[in-house]
Order: sequence, then structure tokens, then C-alpha cells
Amino acid sequence: MTIGDEGFIYNGLPTRVVFGFGTRARVGEETRRLGVRHPLVLSTPEQKQEAQTLATQLGMETVGIFSEATMHTPVAVTEKALAFAMETAVDGLIALGGGSTTGLGKAIALRTDLPQIVLPTTYAGSEMTNILGETSEGKKTTLRSPKVQPELVIYDVELTLTLPKGLSATSGMNAIAHSVEALYAQDRNPLVSLMALEGIRALAEGLSVIADRPQDHEARAKALYGAWLCGAALGSVGMALHHKLCHVLGGSFGLPHAETHTIVLPHVVSFNASVVSEKLAPIAEMLHSAGPGQGLFDLAKRIGAPTALKDIGMPADGLDKAADLATESPYYNPRQPTRQQIRALLEDAFIGRRPDL
Ligand code: NAD
Repeated sequence: MTIGDEGFIYNGLPTRVVFGFGTRARVGEETRRLGVRHPLVLSTPEQKQEAQTLATQLGMETVGIFSEATMHTPVAVTEKALAFAMETAVDGLIALGGGSTTGLGKAIALRTDLPQIVLPTTYAGSEMTNILGETSEGKKTTLRSPKVQPELVIYDVELTLTLPKGLSATSGMNAIAHSVEALYAQDRNPLVSLMALEGIRALAEGLSVIADRPQDHEARAKALYGAWLCGAALGSVGMALHHKLCHVLGGSFGLPHAETHTIVLPHVVSFNASVVSEKLAPIAEMLHSAGPGQGLFDLAKRIGAPTALKDIGMPADGLDKAADLATESPYYNPRQPTRQQIRALLEDAFIGRRPDL
């Protein structure tokens, strides 16, 4: 692209970012800097211990802990957390965890405008976005609002050392999906494209090492740095067909979030490659592959991530319904798919077929 050919609009994200090893030690100082004195610490039940340690580290008198964050941000859990927050008169939120915990913090912030501090422990990237997905009565709805954009993100590489190999692989591929779609987003811009490519490169390098050596500090740092960039890409521009399909598969078939992204991505990339080949070519190059879809499929295999929807709970008789739902209210995509093409793509993802060049 010659700069100026397409023109662009760029908005910087307002989130302050602190990145490094052991940065959680700065949580008290950074929290006070925001004017927060009585924060509510959020976590999943599995990460309650880490939340308690963090709360102690804060060195503040009144600190509540709510450790019931769960996948897909059910409104019922948000309401329970809200009631707890009101009881304990909190003036800020600290989310320690992955996208589920960040999602709970965002859902509370949407309703209260409380400032949010996030300490991410996966590569999901939600901490860098103004996007919130919530579920109520089995239906997932997504919104964008400045109220849910976290004020502060503290990336501490040490917090990711415990992320199991399998989750690291799928969470990392989930992050890569954000950057891939940012490259051909309708509102793409040169700065976000640079961040997106750097994010994919850093994650691909980091994940390849983590698959063998999950305690490798340098690889973990690379992966978390990549996750930050990919999250920022997701927060800066709109998404396309890949995110639409994953939304349908997660929302209507209850498939696990990161695994679904991992499996679907190579197929959407292969489908789009014919019309945005120059935008996706750097991915093939950095993955040393003939094509970007093939490269992403091989990366997923190499790091032990799932490659077939049939292996993560997708029913074979659901493919038609999924194709219908994805065709009904499509997102922007650089290549407009027919229902038949979406059905064929889902079939490939269901079986786990390596995409053709
Ligand atoms: P998650 O937050 O659900 O975490 C999965 C499990 O891993 C949990 O049990 C958690 O406690 C555990 N875990 C997390 N970090 C760990 C660590 N370092 N060590 C050990 N265990 C750890 O998973 P996720 O993939 O991060 O988040 C998925 C959710 O995030 C979905 O609901 C998705 O919709 C949402 N999401 C939202 C956005 C957005 O911008 N709004 C972006 C990406 C994902």
C-alpha cells in the first residue's frame, strides 16, 4: 500500500500499560495513582488464591474479593458481584485473570463506571478493548462502550508461567486471530497493521517454545507482548468473518472460546487469502509456509492445539444451522461469502482438514 492511497483514521487507546516481570508489585502504587482506595478484586474460583495474595500485596485497608468470574460473562454473576460491590462500597475494580475475569470487571464498570485495573494471565486480549460480550438466558450479546475500556493494565509475565500448555496454545491462537482480522478490517490503518504483524510474529515465536518449555521466561515474555499488541489491534479496528463464525459457534453451540478461534482461523484466512493476498503474505513468510492459512494450521498442530470442531463438542448436525446463522446478519468481510461457501468452510473446520493453497 502506498500511504495515502486508501486514507485512514486512527484513534489511540486510552489505556495505561505497565509491562514486565514482577510488575504486580506495583499494583498498590498504580491503584493509588488512579485515586482508588477500596478496590474489589475479581477472579475465577480457580485463581482465588492468587487474588488473595494480590489483595494482601495492595496494602489497603478495605479490600473485597469476588471469585466467581465465569466464561461468557453471565448477567446473573454480574448482578451478584454488583450487589457485593455495593455492600462493600468499593471505588475501583482489579481483575486478575483471563478474558472471563476481565469480562466480569467490564460488566460491572458498564453499570457503575468504576475504574478498572486488569492483570491479565492469559493471552485473550480483552483488557485492551472496549468490547463486552454478556450472556443472558442462553443468548450472547456484544457491545462496544468507552465505559468498559480498562484504565490500567499491568502485564506481569510471571503471572502467565502457570498457564497450562494447552491453554497457552489456544489462548495465543485466539490472540493471533484478532491481529489477522485487523490486517483486513474495513477500518484498518497502517499503525494497527504494524502492531498486528508484530503481535503475530511475537506470539508465533513465543508459543512455539512454550509448547516444549512452558517455564521459558523469554518465550513467555514474547507471547504476552504479542498478546498485548493483538488485544490492542482488536480494540482499535472492527473484526470480520472469522469473529462472526466464532461468535455463532460459541453463542449457539456453547463451544469453548479460545479453541473455537484456533480451529476456525486457518480456514477463514485461506478463504480470504485470494482477495487480500498481499495483506496476509507476511504471515506465510513469518511462519515459513507456502500460504497463511496453511501456516496457521501447521502452527496450531505444532503447538498441540486442536484442529477439528468435532473434537471440541460441535455436533455434525449443527453445521447447517451454524451456516444459516452466520449468513443471516454478516459482519463486513473483504470477500463476501455465500451460504454454501460458509457451509463448506465449516465442514473443513469440523473435520480438521488442512486448508488447500
Ligand atoms: P478464561 O478467562 O475463561 O480462563 C480459562 C481458565 O484458565 C480459567 O479457569 C482461569 O482461571 C484459568 N487461568 C487463567 N489464567 C491462568 C494462569 N495463568 N494459570 C492457570 N490458570 C489460569 O479464558 P480466556 O480464554 O482468557 O477468556 C475467554 C473469555 O474472554 C470468553 O468469554 C471471551 O468471550 C472473552 N474475550 C473477550 C474479549 C473482549 O474484547 N471482550 C476478547 C477476548 C476474549
